[in-house]
Order: sequence, then C-alpha cells, then structure tokens
Amino acid sequence: MTRSPGATFLLICSLLWTAQAFGLPEHHPVPGGIAVIPIGIAEPTKYNGKRVMTLATSDEAYAIVGIPLSTKPGEYEIISGKRRIAFKVSPHEYETQHLTIKNRRQVNPLPEDLERIGGERKAMDSAFLHFDADSTPNTDFQSPVDGPRSSSFGLRRVLNGQPRNPHSGMDIAAPEGTPIVSPAAGIVVAMGNYFFNGNTILIDHGQGLVTMYCHLSSIDVELGNTVDAGELIGKVGQTGRVTGPHLHWGVSLNNARVDPALFLAD
Ligand SMILES: [Zn+2]
Repeated sequence: MTRSPGATFLLICSLLWTAQAFGLPEHHPVPGGIAVIPIGIAEPTKYNGKRVMTLATSDEAYAIVGIPLSTKPGEYEIISGKRRIAFKVSPHEYETQHLTIKNRRQVNPLPEDLERIGGERKAMDSAFLHFDADSTPNTDFQSPVDGPRSSSFGLRRVLNGQPRNPHSGMDIAAPEGTPIVSPAAGIVVAMGNYFFNGNTILIDHGQGLVTMYCHLSSIDVELGNTVDAGELIGKVGQTGRVTGPHLHWGVSLNNARVDPALFLAD
C-alpha cells in the first residue's frame, strides 16, 4: 500500500496527538513511584492480588502500577489476564527531614484522640481501596495550586526527635486562602476535619486513582459532588499538624501513595 506524503503527515500527527492526549504518568519504578508497563491488550490486571489501572490507546495498552514506599527493590510481576509480566523496582534513597511541632499532642496523641484517628483512617482507606473498573481517568494532571514545593514526597520524617511515617505527598507552599483546583475530573468521596490532616478532601478519579488535599482553610465542595479538572474545591490553610500554611497533596494508586510529581507534565 502506498500513501501520499500528505496522508503520512496526517497519520504521524494523529499518533502524536494520541500520545499527548493520553498523558500517561511518568514511568519511575522505585518505591513510591509508578511502573508504566506495556501489556499489549487491556485485560484486567493485578499486582499483589489487587486490581491496577489499565489505559489503552488504539495500538497499545498499559498497566499503571503504584509501588508502595515500603517496597524492597527487586523483581516483581503483574498478572494481566492469564499472562505474567515481570517488572523491576529500582532502589531510591529518600532524605531525612527533622521537624519541630509545637503542639505535642499532634506528635503523641492522647488515648482519646486514637479513636478519632482510627475512624478517619477507615474513611481514607475505604476511598483508597475503591476500584471503579468502568472509568477512564485522566492522568494528565494540572497542578492543584501554583507555588513552590516546600517539601518533597518520600522524605523520612522525624518529628520532635521521634521517627514517623515517611512523607506521603507533595507540599506546596502558598498563602492562606489560595484557591485549590481539582487536577482532573472525579468524585468527592471523603471529607472532614481530620486530626493530623486538618480540613481534608479526597477525590476518586476512577480505577484506584485517588487524590487527597489537606490542611485547608475552607472546603468548597460537598460529599458526592462530581468535579471537573480545574474546578475550585477549597482553599489553602494551616489546619491540622502543620508548621505553616501549605497544601499537602497526596496521590494514591492501587492503594499505594505515590509521588504526585509523576502526574504533572513539568
Ligand atoms: Zn505534607
């Protein structure tokens, strides 16, 4: 078959357009990163026994796998349909960050705080574990807030001299009241005033992709609302355990908290 130069040009343009519109997250297979694995055809795919996101163009499908921060580097596999497909998790060193929190109860909660914290964790876990196989999430995120990233994902945290869980999101410093927008379309699946996270919103984008917004001064959506990319959801604040006003932005994929930067074009 022969094609005119014009037809070839159109074909190349449409392929480029498809790749751009597709906007896959960055392949960065480290603890706290993402493996973008070509799987040929889109079949239900599992990692560690749990469904993972699959996205397909006209000529290739991919499994988009969130790798928990606690994962040891080494060989792993996904199961796609009946096929086993291997992938490698490379080592990555995260630095340690020491922080001083003035409110000591936020570092060592009182017994009466633990029940509240447990309930909040349940609400967040149920959002993180939800998997809507019929949705096609847009993974080409816009930044929820403009501003310098005051602390990066994965830092090992020591609060008032005591080791705590690693930092599971991205901090974006911005003045109190700065608008926060949804980075992609989704549904508000959890919200509340949480002990550590302050005023918090969780948005489900489908196929196990959930984003979280913490320490807000105000929440401008309601539970169950659908939001579009770029729609106002709340404002930056300093509620919960903070050292100053900022947005803590978390991204969860197949219940693994991963680096939000991997979803941003820059
Ligand atoms: Zn944070």
